[in-house]
Amino acid sequence: MHIIEIYKSLQGESSFTGLPCVFVRLAGCNLRCRWCDSEYTFKGGTKMAAAELVAEVGRLLPPGGLVEITGGEPLLQESELIPLMKQLIEKGYTLLLETSGERPLQRVPPAVFKIVDVKCPDSGEGASFRLENLAALSLRDEIKFVIASRADYEFAREFVVAHELWRKSGNVIFSPAFRKDARGVRDAANCLVDPRELAEWILADGLRVRLGLQIHKFIWDPSLKGV
Ligand code: SF4
Repeated sequence: MHIIEIYKSLQGESSFTGLPCVFVRLAGCNLRCRWCDSEYTFKGGTKMAAAELVAEVGRLLPPGGLVEITGGEPLLQESELIPLMKQLIEKGYTLLLETSGERPLQRVPPAVFKIVDVKCPDSGEGASFRLENLAALSLRDEIKFVIASRADYEFAREFVVAHELWRKSGNVIFSPAFRKDARGVRDAANCLVDPRELAEWILADGLRVRLGLQIHKFIWDPSLKGV
């Protein structure tokens, strides 16, 4: 598999926020979201066998801990990723998979907690979500909308209501998009939508969703990699 980095940090998004976690970041992505903060994953990466990956995860975190597979888009390497995920689960890790929602999810092992994006229009990839993926979700999974404008919020709101997402996943997350050129200053001014405004929209509409902030961008310099 082509790997960009493996590192230990705190889980920054999702309902697992704040927990220590080992991140396995895979190379390659077939989308080009305007606010993407992982463009360094688009090319390159180090070739690693599954056994080397499992050993490196084990060096950073004993079995029983939290591991997230992310990217890029990890499911572009699906044929090698599925056996790797099975091995990590057999070792006793709690496994999260971050995916764009564009790749099919049907083959992901049921023990994996899937965190699935639905891309909003301002990302430039608003038509990318694969609707059949809704049938592959369970209540352990999470659906995430990264919101960069009021138009994105309205798209997300309509999508949640039209598909009754609160019945299909354990968590629906609305998260403000972050400026990809953010440097140094760790505050909400780096969000493309003010979190207070987003909170007020959610409350005004009575939505059954969770406001998510990328806490690693408030703890460390938002331009840092490997945190
Ligand atoms: S899917 Fe993720 S990695 Fe790919 S361009 Fe969008 S934000 Fe970046």
